[in-house]
Amino acid sequence: MVFDSTTRRAVIGGAFAMSASQYAAAQTSGTLTADQVIDRIRQNVGVPWRAQTVDKIVLGDGATPVKGVATTMMATFDVVKRCVAAGMNLIITHETPVYIHQDDVQPLAKDPTYLAKKEYIERNQAVVFHFHDHWHSRRPDGIATGMTRELGWEKNIDLENPRRYTFPGTPLAQFAKDMQTRLSARTMRVVGDPKMPVNRVTASWGYMSAVAMAARPEIEVLVVGETREWEVVEYMQDCIAAGQKKALIIVGHVLSEQAGMKYCAEWLKTLVTEVPVQFIAAPEPFWSPNNPAA
Ligand SMILES: [Zn+2]
Repeated sequence: MVFDSTTRRAVIGGAFAMSASQYAAAQTSGTLTADQVIDRIRQNVGVPWRAQTVDKIVLGDGATPVKGVATTMMATFDVVKRCVAAGMNLIITHETPVYIHQDDVQPLAKDPTYLAKKEYIERNQAVVFHFHDHWHSRRPDGIATGMTRELGWEKNIDLENPRRYTFPGTPLAQFAKDMQTRLSARTMRVVGDPKMPVNRVTASWGYMSAVAMAARPEIEVLVVGETREWEVVEYMQDCIAAGQKKALIIVGHVLSEQAGMKYCAEWLKTLVTEVPVQFIAAPEPFWSPNNPAA
């Protein structure tokens, strides 16, 4: 879903948005701040803003004037540097830039890597905004929407449950190969019989840990970003050994959500017109000896 300009005006005119004069001032003076962009996200994401959320500025100062907005799956130091080089100083990242989902930096207070990243961000007047919870709670889920598009699965989606897809019995090996090509994945991993026909697919983008979910009888092929090898991976192996038709495809966390943040940039372009908005891809972190990084 993309907001049209009528909706946007209506929401921006709402009680919690900038006043019309503030909005006009920001547009004409060129002093759009990070806080103002985040306000527009809050007003337009389509779900009430939660009292408890990780969606906040983690590094940098919200009063900073914005030169450009980057969206990314994971603001690693390398990605931050590439955003800054591209002139994007508001970096909207799906996963935390500080390695702990809740963004508690206390344990990192003396960590040289964290301090180097923080210093770089401050020196370059960049701001990093963690945008996780509300992009997922948007309906339809912003990450799921982007991933469905990237994989070309729009025609396969179950409209009742956008995490489920149906396919015409493609052999698992071919199905996984198609996913690998679509996502340009170097290290995707698969558990299951390569010849198994793929009919029903359930996706859990990002991290998933629930054996109970994998156990559901309707689960045939489960696609995840990452999961524990001594829980769900072992469980799926045992399901197969017990004679069930199941398979597991492990894409890697970054590639399993990345396209959702590409879609986020498209959405943000409808809210932010004063400065450029750009998606900056986070590279897949792993390579394999059979398929080394370039
Ligand atoms: Zn996510």
